[in-house]
This record gives sequence, structure tokens and C-alpha cells, in this order.
Amino acid sequence: MNYTEKTLEAVRAKYSYQPEFLQAVSEVFESLEKVIEKNEKLYESEAILERIVEPDRQIIFRVPWVDDSGKIRVNTGYRVQFNNSIGPYKGGLRLHPSVNLSVIKFLGFEQVFKNSLTGLPIGGGKGGSDFDPKGKSDREVMAFCQSFMTELCKYIGADTDVPAGDIGTGAREIGYMFGQYKRIRGLYEGVLTGKGLSYGGSLVRTEATGYGLLYLVRELLKCNGSSIEGKTVVISGAGNVAIYAAEKATQLGGKVVTMSDSTGWIYDKDGVDLAAVKEIKEKNRARLTEYKKYRPESEYHEGRGVWSVKCDIALPCATQNELLLDDAKALVANGVEAVCEGANMPSTIEATKYLQENGVLFVPGKASNAGGVATSALEMSQNSERLSWTFEEVNQKLNGIMVGIYHNIANAAEEYGMKGNFVAGANIAGFQKVVNAMLAHGAC
Ligand code: NDP
Repeated sequence: MNYTEKTLEAVRAKYSYQPEFLQAVSEVFESLEKVIEKNEKLYESEAILERIVEPDRQIIFRVPWVDDSGKIRVNTGYRVQFNNSIGPYKGGLRLHPSVNLSVIKFLGFEQVFKNSLTGLPIGGGKGGSDFDPKGKSDREVMAFCQSFMTELCKYIGADTDVPAGDIGTGAREIGYMFGQYKRIRGLYEGVLTGKGLSYGGSLVRTEATGYGLLYLVRELLKCNGSSIEGKTVVISGAGNVAIYAAEKATQLGGKVVTMSDSTGWIYDKDGVDLAAVKEIKEKNRARLTEYKKYRPESEYHEGRGVWSVKCDIALPCATQNELLLDDAKALVANGVEAVCEGANMPSTIEATKYLQENGVLFVPGKASNAGGVATSALEMSQNSERLSWTFEEVNQKLNGIMVGIYHNIANAAEEYGMKGNFVAGANIAGFQKVVNAMLAHGAC
């Protein structure tokens, strides 16, 4: 058994009850095999793999809050500070009933490599709670966010750990959390990103993950003799990432025909009406069933199913493990050209392999959705400078970062004899920078 297999076996034995975390570690280790083989002695003696899978710190806490009927409710809060070798911990806060330590650890682990890929000085972390903001009043969301931050504020700061939004954590939640941090710590600093523009937020942050995804898709297709112009695009999700992915795909000449939420999906053969989706999701916080009122000729289907629609480009932008092997088969049978992940780990390992083996240009989320965290790092820079850059300035930087990421992962894959394997490329490029810093820092 080689060093990678030994470590993986130990991780599987120790964390058998954390399936999402094990899935992420297996996927990363598998694609790093060649790099690790080349440096096996050094990495083994320095315990690089054992250290990289073990978070620096895992904070789990009680979040009590009072609902509108006066009853005390209790949720669990998490912050996993995974690795700060190349910069302060950075990563979002997920508020969703499915949140548990395994999910947060998988996201934090992936974040380490993603942040490294951006080329910016940010380490990896992730956090959140099993609180569900859906169906709660603004006051209840505020009560939860204030209680959550009352505990979290002890562990974060502009130079130590800078959380951001994720599923269920948008501008409203970040605002309440920032207010509470400022109140308790007495500090006006860039401790969170995704802030409102009037209090330190960055232009383009809202659009960044979706726009960044499309900048990467554009470069990927260009380098493979193709383009987005005139292509049919299938998108899952109807949240922050999905909406701005759809917006940029449309601006670049693609036709987006589907979007989905946790209860169903829409198919609009003439191209999704984004203004309607924004009104339904961003303003009314309602279900996609409403879409038919705006576009009577569109179709609404209960459950999942967007991957059955014929398309050239597929962009999973909802959540983890939403694109399964059968979905991959349907996409390939329908002639899909590229699948690029907007969400974190939306494709299962089997689906990813099938897409790659069938010649689909597949880019994993840690590379293709890195525009969000990259722009968060640009927000941190602006906060440190106490300046605000223009939309165009940030947008141009974002585009440059995404183009850079594409070439970085393509070159890394090629260097190790795996041309076109962007999963391997992303893991290798992200890993090497972090490991070099870990080696320089000694046993810590
Ligand atoms: P949002 O909460 O804004 O949107 C998530 C969307 O996915 C919603 O449409 C939601 O449906 C749907 N969804 C969530 N869970 C499920 C589920 N279990 N089954 C089916 N649909 C589901 O989140 P974001 O757009 O911010 O995030 C989407 C993904 O992108 C996540 O994986 C996140 O980690 C990743 N990501 C986000 C970044 C960001 O900047 N926002 C940065 C990088 C990655 P409904 O409307 O019904 O809730």
C-alpha cells in the first residue's frame, strides 16, 4: 500500500460517519496520486497528507434564539478553520437543515484548494448551521444571526478568519451578522464579505460566482475551438450562483432553458426570463411554481430533471450530489459539450468519471466557482485600503483571475500527463501551493 492509500484508509476508518467529507478527500487524493508519488518520501516524513485532512480547528456551538411566538429554539453552529498556510481562513457560512459536521468539513477541505487556485492569499474554512431561514420572519432570521455571531465573533477577525455567504446566507444574513460583530467587538473591520455596498461591500460580489463561472467557461471553450454563442445552456438552482450564471451566459450569447429549486424545475424553450426569476427568488423568496404566471408557455415539473434536457453546456449550480451517474449518461447521450460546476461538488464521483471518459469538458467547482471567493478576497483588499473599486475594475480583475485559473489547471494537468483532466489539474495546482507553504512552516 502506498502513502496515499494508507492515509486514505486511515481517514476512512476514523471518519466513517462523515460521508461527504470522505467523498471529497477520496476525490482529491485520487487525482493527486502522481504528484504524491513523485514526492512520497518527503511528504510521508512531513506527514503532509495526515495534516492536510485534519482541520486546524473545529468549533461547534449552541445557537439559542427566540421565535415569533416567544419560544426558545436551538440550532447547532459550526466553523471549521481548515488550513491557514497561505492566508487567513476564508469560506462561507451555510444555513440549511442538511448542515452537519461532515458537510462543513467537506466544504472546508475543498475550500483550501479552491482558495489556493485563485492565486490570492487566502486559507480555507467553512461554517454554518442547521438553521433553515426559509419560512422565518425577518425578525426570526435576525434573532438567529445575532445569536450565531455572539458565539462566532470570538473566533473570527479581519486577519484571522473572514466568513462569507453560502446557501441560505445572503445579504440580509450577512448584514445582521456584521451588525452584531461590530456591536460586540467594537471593531469596524472587514470580518465578513458579501457585505452591503453602503458598509464595505464590493461591487460585483453578488454576481461574482455566476459571472466567474461563465468567464471560465468562455476561456475553456475558446481554448477548445468553441464558444458560448448560440449554445443551449441548462442550469440547476435558482439562487445566487444560478441567477448570475444565467445572466452572464445570456449576455455571452447562450440560451438558458432551465432553472430549478428544491421542489421543482422550469423549462422555457425560448430562454428563461431572468427578470421573472429574480423577482420570484430574490424579491418574493417564493417557489419556481410562480414562473408560469410570468411565462404561461413555459413548463414546470415537480422534483429533479434538468439534466434530461438536451443542451450543449450544463452548469450545476444548486447543491452537492445533484448530478448523478444517470444524469451524466443522459447529458452525454444528448451530446453535451461542457459541464462546469457552479455549486460545490454537485457531481458524484461516478458522474464525473463518466463525463470525463466520454470526452466532455468537465471543470470541477473548486476551479469554476472560485470567482465568488476571489471577489471576496478583492473585497478584503478594498476594506484594508479603505477604498472602493468601480464595477468595471472588479469585473476585469475577476475575469483575469478566472482565465488564470483555467490556464493554471490546464497546465498542471498537462505537466503530469493528464491533459484535459481538469479535476486532476485543479487538485494538483491548488495542492502544490498549500503544501509548499506547509513545508516552509514546519510541524504545525
Ligand atoms: P442559494 O441559497 O442562493 O441557492 C441555492 C439554490 O439551490 C436554490 O435555488 C435552492 O432551492 C437550491 N437547492 C439548495 N439545496 C437543494 C437541494 N438539497 N436540492 C435541490 N435544490 C437545492 O445558494 P448559492 O447560489 O449561494 O449556492 C449554490 C451552490 O454554490 C452551493 O453549493 C454553494 O456552496 C456554491 N457556491 C456558492 C458561492 C456563492 O458565492 N454564493 C461561491 C462558491 C460556491 P430553493 O430556492 O428551494 O432554496
